[in-house]
Amino acid sequence: MDDVVIEVDGLRRSYGKFEAVRGISLRILRGELFALLGTNGAGKTTTIEVLEGLQPATSGRVRVLGLDPVRDRAAVRPRTGVMLQHGGFTGALTVRETVEAWRSLTVRPHTVAEVLELVDLTDRVNVTVDQLSGGEGRRLELALAVLGRPEVLFLDEPTTGMDPASRRRTWEVVRELQRGGTTVLLTTHYLEEAEILADRVAIMRGGNLVATGAPEDIVRTLPARITFRLPATEVPPELPHATRLVESDRVTYESRQLQGDLTRLLEWANAGDIQLAALSARPATLEDAFLDIAAENDPTDQHAEPEAVR
Ligand code: ATP
Repeated sequence: MDDVVIEVDGLRRSYGKFEAVRGISLRILRGELFALLGTNGAGKTTTIEVLEGLQPATSGRVRVLGLDPVRDRAAVRPRTGVMLQHGGFTGALTVRETVEAWRSLTVRPHTVAEVLELVDLTDRVNVTVDQLSGGEGRRLELALAVLGRPEVLFLDEPTTGMDPASRRRTWEVVRELQRGGTTVLLTTHYLEEAEILADRVAIMRGGNLVATGAPEDIVRTLPARITFRLPATEVPPELPHATRLVESDRVTYESRQLQGDLTRLLEWANAGDIQLAALSARPATLEDAFLDIAAENDPTDQHAEPEAVR
């Protein structure tokens, strides 16, 4: 039987009268990398914080490694790594002092050198934390999250503020941990990141899960896209499996049969000696699926102002 590491059944979490998470259920297996996606305010951080034991569930059942993250916090905490959306460091300490302070609180920690090597911060070891750039600060937080070789790693928007090279480095670190058997739950607004890293994703909207599955399964139902520019004097052809949208010189087809439609289009262009400027043809992406879902009206919208009660 598959080893379920994170179990969520009918989770609800309210802040005063406002219900931020409205009865979600999911299962995450050992070694899986699961990405929680959603628009701003969809309830991702709330969900992850309940799993981390930082907030209680209002109702429903949550288990991490078979334990209750709030009631069994002392047992769960050493086996999990947490990277919060807004970490809090003491700026006057150096990177080394910060890692050493955390090591003293951690069971079986990596050495300072190992963990800084892992996140590529070795050359910043003697710099004070308030002198780190935003992206370096995120990498230090990642170092602290993985210091205790966690079985389960929670990453809330881990690569926000990182440059493309640091982001890729972080992906490698996360993949390496996953190869070693770590289960990872990640939230991100970078859909490319989810598409590249995640075994499965869930998309949240207004406190509900509205889609769950492997990224390729979520995009499978959506059409591919062909785009190009064409002088407004030319009329682009009808394609058998596509709908066409023309906005001045920009032409977009949404195609259910990319190869056939593209062949037909190129035959038309070649026959008329027509140049299709900036021609691009690509299958649907997770971003297309996300934008589709985000654009749909939320039937459960509470039109309520959330109250600060935390
Ligand atoms: P983002 O992508 O912007 O980080 P999110 O999906 O992580 O969003 P949450 O931070 O979980 O969303 O917030 C969900 C909803 O709950 C939002 O409407 C937010 O304003 C509200 N909320 C979060 N924390 C509190 C709080 N302490 N008190 C009141 N409302 C809160």
